[in-house]
Amino acid sequence: MTPRTPRIAVACSTLVTAGVAEPGSRTRRHQVPDPYVERVVEAGGLPLLLPVVDPAWAEAYLDLADGLLLVGGDDVDPSLYGALPHPELGTVDLARDRFEVALLRVAVARDLPTLGVCRGVQVMNVALGGTLWQDLPSEVASTLPHAGRYDASHDVDVVPGSRLAAILGTGAPGSGGSRVPVNSHHHQALRTVAPTLVVTARSPDGVVEAAELPSQRFFVGVQWHPERLPDAEATRRLFAAFVAEAARDLPSRGPAGARRRS
Ligand code: MN
Repeated sequence: MTPRTPRIAVACSTLVTAGVAEPGSRTRRHQVPDPYVERVVEAGGLPLLLPVVDPAWAEAYLDLADGLLLVGGDDVDPSLYGALPHPELGTVDLARDRFEVALLRVAVARDLPTLGVCRGVQVMNVALGGTLWQDLPSEVASTLPHAGRYDASHDVDVVPGSRLAAILGTGAPGSGGSRVPVNSHHHQALRTVAPTLVVTARSPDGVVEAAELPSQRFFVGVQWHPERLPDAEATRRLFAAFVAEAARDLPSRGPAGARRRS
């Protein structure tokens, strides 16, 4: 029998706007940009979109999933890492932050394959005890274009021997070395790196561009947007490695959580 398709939980991004019904009310919309869905499908995964709910439901949601994908979006609320808001802090959604932190804690406890993109790697860092630069342009001296580009934007140096290096094939003979061009669309970034998290790529100005938890079978975050570069070999390799790990040892039938409890 062929194994069933790996289910990839995709935590939704949110758009919070002023409500029209009552003064002071707010409306949250859940959304996932198409490229994330497309890359998961291309890699052989079945995307399951998770709305923001009470963090206590993180376990129940991940019972349904074989992998977890955290996508980009608005800024992370600095209260989560004990900082006051910087003047250039953008829109935040504390309920989304708390739900994603809860998802990550469950994912780590279960060793569930997890991929974080852009804001995703930032939430990974905060969930594990790290802090963020709230606004790179005003807090870190750099001439590199980190914000505003979904096409090629700057290089990153991938740390040899890391999981990321193995996935991307960097540093191997014929690979062209460990420097990879990436796109970049972020104004926040990792500041203090969480104790257990290992930095696996930096841009030439020193900004953290990728990190991973070596203790997990797949817990990888990247600061760039691989999903927006569908034809890049690095994109194909990253999503293929993620979904392949989620697909490992899947039963032919039954609920996603079954093999972990059996
Ligand atoms: Mn960047």
